[in-house]
Amino acid sequence: ARHTDENGVVVIGLGRFGYHLAGSLVQLGHEVLALDRNAERVQRWSGALDRVVQADSTEEAALRQLGVADFPRVVVAIGASVEASVLTVLALTELGVPQIWARATSEKHAKILSSVGAHHVIFPEAETGERVAHLIVSKMLDFI
Ligand code: ATP
Repeated sequence: ARHTDENGVVVIGLGRFGYHLAGSLVQLGHEVLALDRNAERVQRWSGALDRVVQADSTEEAALRQLGVADFPRVVVAIGASVEASVLTVLALTELGVPQIWARATSEKHAKILSSVGAHHVIFPEAETGERVAHLIVSKMLDFI
């Protein structure tokens, strides 16, 4: 049976990007299940987010046990470890998660993520850099 909350989101990897993403989704009124393998990070964010659990997301069985397969969408916010991010997307594909979002740190990383089944690939650093450049330029024009 599918998860009851069609707006639920699983966020995997609570670095700066993952934490802010999870917090924003909660503020927008969505149920968030946050997951990180690092006990310290889980501890740090357990007060701010409603459901934070410690698990290694490359383990398909662990994801299944946590009910990740019942969520309509999952975001893989792991950045630095290409191996962990790719193996996590692979596990999510095996579980049949309908919408898999994954963070890439390079074009090659993005290609691998797509080939193992990611539906959406995002580049937070590149996208933020571009957005801030446009913001700076638009503010320049304000002063002309
Ligand atoms: P950011 O740039 O968002 O701050 P970061 O550079 O701190 O990220 P990353 O390596 O991108 O760190 O990892 C983000 C988070 O993902 C970390 O908290 C890390 O513990 C977690 N993580 C990495 N591998 C796994 C895994 N296999 N299972 C669960 N969580 C993982």
